[in-house]
Amino acid sequence: MFSKILIANRGEIALRIVRACKQLGIQSVIAHSESDRDSLPVRLADERICIGPANATHSYLNQRAIFSAAKMTNADAIHPGYGFLSENAEFADLIEKSGLVFIGPTADNIRQMGDKVAAKKQMIAASVPCVPGSEGALPADSDQIIKTASDVGYPVIIKAASGGGGRGMRVVEKEADLLSAISMTQTEAKANFGSAIVYLEKYLQAPRHIEIQVLSDTHGNAIYLGERDCSMQRRHQKVIEEAPAPGITDEQRQRIGQACATACQQMKYRGAGTFEFLYENGEFFFIEMNTRIQVEHPITEMVTGVDIVQEQIRVAAGLKLAHKQSDIVITGHAFECRINAENPDTFLPNAGRIDYCHMPAGLGIRVDSHIESNYTVPPSYDSLIAKICVHDHSREAAIKKMQAALSEAQITGIDTNISLHERLFKDEAFCQGQVSIHYLTEWIKENI
Ligand code: ADP
Repeated sequence: MFSKILIANRGEIALRIVRACKQLGIQSVIAHSESDRDSLPVRLADERICIGPANATHSYLNQRAIFSAAKMTNADAIHPGYGFLSENAEFADLIEKSGLVFIGPTADNIRQMGDKVAAKKQMIAASVPCVPGSEGALPADSDQIIKTASDVGYPVIIKAASGGGGRGMRVVEKEADLLSAISMTQTEAKANFGSAIVYLEKYLQAPRHIEIQVLSDTHGNAIYLGERDCSMQRRHQKVIEEAPAPGITDEQRQRIGQACATACQQMKYRGAGTFEFLYENGEFFFIEMNTRIQVEHPITEMVTGVDIVQEQIRVAAGLKLAHKQSDIVITGHAFECRINAENPDTFLPNAGRIDYCHMPAGLGIRVDSHIESNYTVPPSYDSLIAKICVHDHSREAAIKKMQAALSEAQITGIDTNISLHERLFKDEAFCQGQVSIHYLTEWIKENI
């Protein structure tokens, strides 16, 4: 096992990793920016080292500074958290080639899954169901493209192979718009992602977003920890997540979960990962794989009892997974509300000083957060300030628990979206379950 891990991240996920290290008896050192110097994770880590100014380009994204910080503090491994350098293959390579361990998959795996055309190829080879579409990148020949689109059937979506963050996609309703849409997407993709490669898929009209959590070790073992429903999204950003996904049967879970675990074994995947699917009319369609720990991992921990971050660290150290598939039992139901520092009407981020902060607690209530009274939310980073999660024996009971938890949460001095969550947890259709990825956008149009 490692003796010291450097955490190359900030905020709630840095604190989450500090806690996992403490529980595993590993020293933690946090690499932080100047503006995060007094933050809770920095104070709670065993050691701290400043890697640069608030601007992430010069700190949390500065590979050389992070690498030097790890060397200077004698860390044996680096945990990248999510965002920042967590899915940067070049960084993973730099770390591993210098003899340190990158807590995540290999650079090759990151590279392959970061290229959506290559990822889809790998999934097809592993019998993971994918959205029907072009086999790989679109060819140059217009007649061939037109034929592919009409075989797939309109509407179709054109996607950049190296796109991300919900960008680099365009929906096409009819053949007359196809070629111009492709050339626009190619131009944008080249400018934004450095590659003009695009592919085409059937556009699903009202799917749900359902994702499978996996864990895989370097001894050929891979397990799935059930699924999460993340359909409540605004601008492709998840707002509420739940586990398990309402209406998914044990048989469906087992079939799709096993396919993902098998894919991990085939590509020799290491660590935690998530296979994202669109789900429509009882069928799953792979869209992408995230090769890191995700924001919403706590709800899976609550329904399975598996500490995903600890497992991630253990398998990075070369140990075997502590759980077999037959140990994994999904119990009860969990929700996560992402609490953002933002205006609840305009959704504009809102940094500033928190005068007073009180977070809910109690049986089956978990809050992952780095904020506290008198903390100043810096303007330079993501607006996520807390994750309020609840777990109870049924979905109905978990909804009631979340209503109670939200009513107790108090953050004064800055605006947050707590009131938005309170309204959503009273919304009839959401409480019924199984809403599509468009539901929240429509709800906001009608209600805000
Ligand atoms: P990114 O890496 O940019 O997040 P994804 O491939 O995960 O890209 O897609 C982001 C979102 O775009 C999905 O969550 C979904 O809302 C929409 N989307 C992507 N592919 C399709 C599709 N084939 N049909 C319908 N919606 C899609």
